[in-house]
Amino acid sequence: DVSQPLDTDFYRVFADVPAEDREAWRRARGFVDEIWPTINEAWEDAEYPFSRVRRMGELGLLNDGVEGPGLRTLSPLAAGLVTMEVSRGDGSLGTIIAIQGGLALRTIALHASQEQKERWLVPVERAEVITAFALTEPGHGSDSVALETTAVRDGDSWVINGTKKWIGHGLNGDLTIVWARVPEGEVRAFFVPQDTPGYSAELITGKVALRSVHQTRITFDDVRVPLDNVLPGANSFKDTSRVLYATRLGVAWSALGHAIACYEAALNYAQQRIQFGRPLAQSQMVQERLTQMLSDVTSMQLHCMHLATLDTRGELDPVMASMAKYTCTRKARAVASIARDMMGANGILLENHVIRHLVDMEAVHTYEGTESIQALLIGRRVTGESAFA
Ligand code: FAD
Repeated sequence: DVSQPLDTDFYRVFADVPAEDREAWRRARGFVDEIWPTINEAWEDAEYPFSRVRRMGELGLLNDGVEGPGLRTLSPLAAGLVTMEVSRGDGSLGTIIAIQGGLALRTIALHASQEQKERWLVPVERAEVITAFALTEPGHGSDSVALETTAVRDGDSWVINGTKKWIGHGLNGDLTIVWARVPEGEVRAFFVPQDTPGYSAELITGKVALRSVHQTRITFDDVRVPLDNVLPGANSFKDTSRVLYATRLGVAWSALGHAIACYEAALNYAQQRIQFGRPLAQSQMVQERLTQMLSDVTSMQLHCMHLATLDTRGELDPVMASMAKYTCTRKARAVASIARDMMGANGILLENHVIRHLVDMEAVHTYEGTESIQALLIGRRVTGESAFA
């Protein structure tokens, strides 16, 4: 019951969450309860959870705080709590919030024309239009600023050529927002319906993290879209970065959800598992490890809560979101690793709900800017020196 502070909320960080935000949190928890029995099976089978994504759309959970006409905007705190709660259940669905309700929805809200917003925002938020955000390329991940996909005007069309990799929702969806370079050298964004001739996508297989969300490699081979498929507000890579910065905070909340799930599982296990004639929980070393995990969880909660407050006040600096992502993904990886070890062999079984979070965290740690890239962004701020290249 989210009206009560969670057992994991040691400092009562969330005790005063306003009623409206608590309601969104409750909806997210209710959704996780619905899907809980089959999360592991869906992960193991690497099934894309279309019906669950639609359900999240219906419930208003597919918006990480994006504002726009007709949207059911969640406050920064509510959006964070929803991402945390969904990721506590299933990190693949947490990632889908980041793709559909963060990267794609926010690109439209920040950079689309009024007409484009009216056409796309609501259907994307409701998951009626499954949408991809295609930035990363096989040769450009951390340095996506150097992307090579091109868009050239030809008569009344833009013609797009290039390859993208790691793109969630690139296959079997409806719409891809693709970032491409125009002849003048700047990076711009384009709406490409996935059934456009020349658009082809293949599933990336053999993936051992976030198995229920599909990533793809997309080829654009003379893909033609009308001139008004360009997003007029996206005129340089700085505009891409505005989307990435804003969505990064959601990744910190997601890491918190993963860490809470692992802590809860480890605590429960330590109380049940008898070795040397007593529960593991009676061992000093086990208590110290639980303390270490809870200390990390508490620190993540404070980070996320404080940044939600700054965001609400309009005082969130992008580099703060980098610090939150850096801190929370590091801590969540550490918590997941301790939890897995504390459960012995049982820690590697999906049914015990830790190994899935542990491997999912490996992807969360990498996407939306790796730990090292966040460190370079913070380092540039504190030293005044860019160390990227
Ligand atoms: P690289 O850039 O090749 O980095 C490899 C290593 O080198 C990393 O440890 C990195 O930190 C380090 N490194 C790189 N440069 C430096 C440097 N200057 N100094 C020190 N260390 C450095 N992209 C999209 O556009 N859309 C999506 O929907 C999407 N979804 C994703 C989903 C998943 C599950 C994953 C794993 C990725 C997704 N991505 C997506 C791509 C993601 O954003 C990139 O993987 C990420 O930016 C890192 O790029 P890379 O994998 O090419 O690693």
